[in-house]
Amino acid sequence: MGRALVTGGAGFLGSHLCDRLLAEGFDVVVMDNLITGSTDNIAHLIGNPKFRFIHYDVTEYLFLDGAVDFIFHLASPASPIDFPTRPIQILKVNALGTHKALGLARAKNATFFLASTSEVYGDPLVHPQVEEYLGNVNPIGIRGVYDEAKRFAESITMAYHRYHGLNTKIVRIFNTYGPRMRLSDGRVVPNFIGQALRGDEITVYGDGKQTRSFCYCTDLIDGFIKLVMSDQTGPINIGNPTERTMLEFAQQIKALTGSSSEIVFKPLLTPDDPKQRKPDITKAKSLLGWEPRVSLEQGLSETIAYFKTKLEA
Ligand code: UDP
Repeated sequence: MGRALVTGGAGFLGSHLCDRLLAEGFDVVVMDNLITGSTDNIAHLIGNPKFRFIHYDVTEYLFLDGAVDFIFHLASPASPIDFPTRPIQILKVNALGTHKALGLARAKNATFFLASTSEVYGDPLVHPQVEEYLGNVNPIGIRGVYDEAKRFAESITMAYHRYHGLNTKIVRIFNTYGPRMRLSDGRVVPNFIGQALRGDEITVYGDGKQTRSFCYCTDLIDGFIKLVMSDQTGPINIGNPTERTMLEFAQQIKALTGSSSEIVFKPLLTPDDPKQRKPDITKAKSLLGWEPRVSLEQGLSETIAYFKTKLEA
C-alpha cells in the first residue's frame, strides 16, 4: 500500500488514523511533538515493524529517508482551551508546519492530505454549512488563531496543488469524539462525560442553545480513507449531521451515564463561540460514497466506557 507520514499521529484522531492505515497495510511514520498528543495513544503500536514514531516539531525543517507516498498533516492543538494558551504554536503548526509538510510532499512526490476544520466557516451565517460557504471569521478574535491558521493552511495547500501540480486533499472536519480524547481536553464531549461520571456539575456554556453535530472517530477516519483513495481534491466536509443544542447534549450525557450531576450554566469560553454548526455532507455522499454509520448513542456509549477506564486508572 505504500508508506505514510502522519503529523500529529500521537493525537486523538492521528492515532486512530495510524490504526486504520496499518490495518490497510501501510507503513506508518508518526511525527509529533507531544504538546497535546500522548505516547499512550500509540503505545500499542510500538514494536510493530511497520510503525515508527519520531518525536519532532513539524514547524522545523522536515527530513525523512526513503519513499513517502502519503503525508497526512493533522498536527495542531484543536481544543478551544488551547486557543488562548497556545496561540503562537497553533499559528505556527498550521502555517509553517503546513509549508514544511507540503515541501516534503513535493520532494517525495507524495499525496498531501490536510486536516482542515469546520472552523473555517467561523460563526456561520449559512446553515447547514456547504463547502461553497466562505465563512464568517473574526481574524482578531480568540478563535482567530485557529480559524485563520487553518484558512491559510487551505490556501497554501491549493497553491501547491495549482502551482506545483501536487496531488492534494483537503478535509473539513466537524466536531468528532471518541476514545483517546484527553479527559482534560476541554472540549464538550470529554468535559460533559467526565463531569457526569465524577458526579460534578455539568457545565453548559452560555445559554446552551448553540448547536453542534458530533461524528464518531472511526466514521471520520473512514471518510479520510475514502477521500485519499478518490480522485477528489476537496475541500470536503466530513461530519455527522445529527445536530443537538448543548443543553440537550448535556441532558443526553446525563441520561446515558445514569448520573445525578446537576446541569449548570457558565459563561462562554470565547465570545465568538459559533451559534450553530452542522455539516452538509451531500458532497461526501455523492463524490466519495461516504456517510456516518455509528449512531450518537452507540458512539457515546463506547466513549463513556473509555472514560470510565481512564477515571478508574
Ligand atoms: N461547551 C459547553 N460546556 C463545556 C464545554 C463546551 O457548553 O464544558 C460548549 C461550547 O461553548 C461550544 C460547544 O460546547 O458551544 C462545543 O465546544 P467544544 O469545545 O467541544 O468545541 P467547538 O465546537 O466550540 O470548537
